[in-house]
Amino acid sequence: MLLSSLVAQASPLSEQQVNQLQGLVSQLNPIQQAWVSGYLAASAQLAGQLSGQPVPAQAAASASLTILFGSQTGNARHVAEALAKQAQAKGIVAKVVDMAEYKTSQLKNEQYLVIVTSTYGEGEPPENAIGLHNFLFSKKAPKLPGLKYAVLGLGDTSYEFFCKTAQDFDQRLAELGATSVLPRIDLDVDYQSQADNWSNELVTKLEPELTAAGPSAQVIAWPGSDATVGAVSQYSKQKPFAAELYTKQKITGRDSTKDVRHIEISLADSGLSYQPGDALGIYFLNDPALVRELLLLTAVARDTPVQLAGDTLTVEQALIEQLELTQSYPAFVEKYAAATNNATLTALAGDKAALRAYIGERQIIDIVRDYPGLLSAQQLVDALRKQQPRLYSIASSQAEVEDEVHLTVGVVSYDAYGQPHLGGASGFLAERLAEGDKVKVFVEHNNNFRLPPGDDTPVIMIGPGTGIAPFRAFLQERDARGAAGKNWLFFGNPHFTQDFLYQLELQNYLKRGVLTKLSVAFSRDQADKLYVQDKLRAHGRDVWQWLEDGAHLYICGDANRMAKDVQQALIDIVQQYGGKSAEQAQTYLDELRVAKRYQKDVY
Ligand code: NAP
Repeated sequence: MLLSSLVAQASPLSEQQVNQLQGLVSQLNPIQQAWVSGYLAASAQLAGQLSGQPVPAQAAASASLTILFGSQTGNARHVAEALAKQAQAKGIVAKVVDMAEYKTSQLKNEQYLVIVTSTYGEGEPPENAIGLHNFLFSKKAPKLPGLKYAVLGLGDTSYEFFCKTAQDFDQRLAELGATSVLPRIDLDVDYQSQADNWSNELVTKLEPELTAAGPSAQVIAWPGSDATVGAVSQYSKQKPFAAELYTKQKITGRDSTKDVRHIEISLADSGLSYQPGDALGIYFLNDPALVRELLLLTAVARDTPVQLAGDTLTVEQALIEQLELTQSYPAFVEKYAAATNNATLTALAGDKAALRAYIGERQIIDIVRDYPGLLSAQQLVDALRKQQPRLYSIASSQAEVEDEVHLTVGVVSYDAYGQPHLGGASGFLAERLAEGDKVKVFVEHNNNFRLPPGDDTPVIMIGPGTGIAPFRAFLQERDARGAAGKNWLFFGNPHFTQDFLYQLELQNYLKRGVLTKLSVAFSRDQADKLYVQDKLRAHGRDVWQWLEDGAHLYICGDANRMAKDVQQALIDIVQQYGGKSAEQAQTYLDELRVAKRYQKDVY
């Protein structure tokens, strides 16, 4: 169509815009024109999604791929972004959208949809996927006969409800009439190579349909992606930065039941930056003493060469630097049982529930101690999975600490089966790493745990135990910004004298008015247990008033018990002081979550 005829057809463009467009188009060859057309179509679709505005059909004429991620720790986001890049390389217009940002009204307009999601807790969707999950399972979900889709699940086979959320999405999209273009894949903790292969297969399948209109390609950054926040460093999860450990200081008392360390790490010269709410990923070295014992029990010589991801290294190096030795998982038992020809262990591996119960608190070494056997160095390495970095909520704000990053690390340390045990990463940081040593780190951004944009907005933070970490970052940030909004912190731990993490800092914030209120629950300082939710209930009227005044609500810490009990306390408060039914109170909290006023960083 001649551009000048656009004006005659009452296009939404002014005459001047048409002239400008005509000038630009005249400089482009046909391939460039096709690219621009795809780019504009996808941009318009994304802008429409984010604003909730409908996109005119002709604006989205060339089909594109929408990739939604539901992520708790960032893994699903990374897989979604890698898939988008693979699609882009083939000339497919692809956009990646955080499920929390996705307008459900857009669903009926999608033609090609990929869902990449993790599962959390007992088969629940991750925090940012709850809204879409609820919507799809509600009566409001539209029929989707024109939709082609694929689902990739991330999970951990140690959990009973492995990849449940991915299964839910897959099943529900099929029920709504959508057509699966590639069978769902459910992936364990070491998902990377299978995720790459699945993505490759998917892109190959979609390529003929999605590039029919021409070689147009554009990955559109979702709001808050690394590309849009300007957090561009050469270092990443794939290429971590070797950072210097400045300080590690025990911040629980001598008689505490807990060993919590305040850790300070230098990010100088890394180009890495973070915001309050982000996490720091840590790669660690396994305990050499543990590795020696493992090699002894399996009669493997420490300097035996092995192959790992295309590299040749000694088995000892592989075990110390690359493989998971502290967290056990079903696949290890299965592979180890087969390699050592152990009938008892093979039978155990066949009974999933018994296997989960057996693994319990056992580390890899405990399983090998229980069933010592002979196998080759390569078989041992092949039975183990690659070490996954551990994420710690960042406990500092760069507005205050500049190129440092602080963490609040609870050291995992327990006696079991007659032996002392240490956590992989926490043991490394607390026991084996000396000040001045290097530790490999990367920043994992978390846009679903952010201070409110308005400095006047009140904030309620609930963070017992090491769950206080991100709130120290929030307070530093609000202090540095001179934010006028009120801040209320709920903190709990066993004993006032032993476990009041950051006591002096918090009391100082209180004195200076940065903290408006500090409510503490020291659970074991009285006959009956006292928890943060008891403090919330005791202050129920004020909590309700703060919420009605627009407060943002945050929970960090234990997911299994605390976060659920706190949520129940909040429902009770909304019911009691808001005069609502239980169902209405739940809806009230759901609405807060959708409005990003109720955010959780729990596991
Ligand atoms: P914790 O075990 O959560 O204990 C902190 C306080 O909470 C103690 O006083 C404890 O009391 C109390 N508590 C126990 N059950 C509770 C319940 N149902 N409701 C409310 N409070 C309860 O502290 P922690 O050892 O520092 O561990 C924190 C937990 O959160 C860990 O599971 C950790 O993995 C997780 N965490 C996650 C993040 C993250 O980044 N997402 C950050 C920090 C921590 P009693 O022990 O006296 O019963």
